[in-house]
Amino acid sequence: TKPERPIAKTPDVRISFEFFPPKSPDMEDQLWQTVQALQPYQPDFVSVTYGAGGTTREPTLATVKRLIADTPLATASHLTCVGATRDEVRAVVEEFQAAGVRHFVALRGDPQGGMGSRYAPHPGGFVNAADLVSGLRDLGDFEISVSAYPERHPESENDDVDLDMLKQKVDAGATRALTQFFFDNDIFERYLERVRAAGISIPIVPGIMPIQNLTQLKRFASMCGASTPSFLDERFEGTEGDAQARAAVAADIAAEQIADLSRRGIEEFHIYTMNRAPLTIATLERLGIAAKVDKVSNAAA
Ligand code: FAD
Repeated sequence: TKPERPIAKTPDVRISFEFFPPKSPDMEDQLWQTVQALQPYQPDFVSVTYGAGGTTREPTLATVKRLIADTPLATASHLTCVGATRDEVRAVVEEFQAAGVRHFVALRGDPQGGMGSRYAPHPGGFVNAADLVSGLRDLGDFEISVSAYPERHPESENDDVDLDMLKQKVDAGATRALTQFFFDNDIFERYLERVRAAGISIPIVPGIMPIQNLTQLKRFASMCGASTPSFLDERFEGTEGDAQARAAVAADIAAEQIADLSRRGIEEFHIYTMNRAPLTIATLERLGIAAKVDKVSNAAA
């Protein structure tokens, strides 16, 4: 059966958008078109990812600088500590700070051998993400977001170990957690209950992944320990040759997920845009979240 278009007006939710640094001039054009298209939806903030081992330091910095200079958007930079000494990380932080960054998404990062290889702290580096959060606290009065894993991180032996890492990051000074994407809201709700029972009270912001391509998503999800429930296959069934139908289904799924979480009391959502605007916009429109005329002038930002 074909899904109904959701009529799930939830215009009061707050949103943030995640981007990644472009790798080519074409990708750069695409990113800036995306930023322009999404800016009128007035996100609380946008964030730019940062490659593990400093692999995207320059492109991330350039992207963040341009967002700060050319848009009124509150801009956060992701930061990883894997494969770097404390001094190297500190130098990066100072560079971003000088560019106007006041909000970091502090991450350990994947081991440089890629996902699946074993993580070992760099000698002289931050031990883990919690240690990085403490280091950031020492360097400035930053807003610090961290990661959270409703289906636990693939390296975590069990849920308790995973939750303990989040607790350590919060105790070190993190003020918000952004989650790995997930598609089963019951899993998130149970996770949130455990988080609250552990005495963690910071906002746990669901990461929402509008599905650009189900096959690619499944491959990626299996590497990050996120499950892809069978209802996703059912929803996309019959859309193989029809990009428009696929996009409509993807927007329906993301909008329904946000609307359902909103009914469960969640107010903030972090959207993985993949540097593309149409699917995010279609999702927001289904929720009744309208583009607003941007009254803030660039000069005032
Ligand atoms: P942590 O929070 O330190 O650890 C994650 C989990 O792994 C913990 O729950 C802990 O239990 C377990 N763990 C950690 N170390 C060990 C150990 N030694 N033994 C056993 N278990 C252990 N990656 C990037 O490279 N750049 C980005 O910009 C980026 N942005 C992200 C944004 C979000 C919202 C999320 C959810 C992830 C992002 N990642 C990014 C991915 C992230 O770097 C990887 O998941 C990485 O493997 C873990 O980093 P972390 O900060 O989440 O680690």
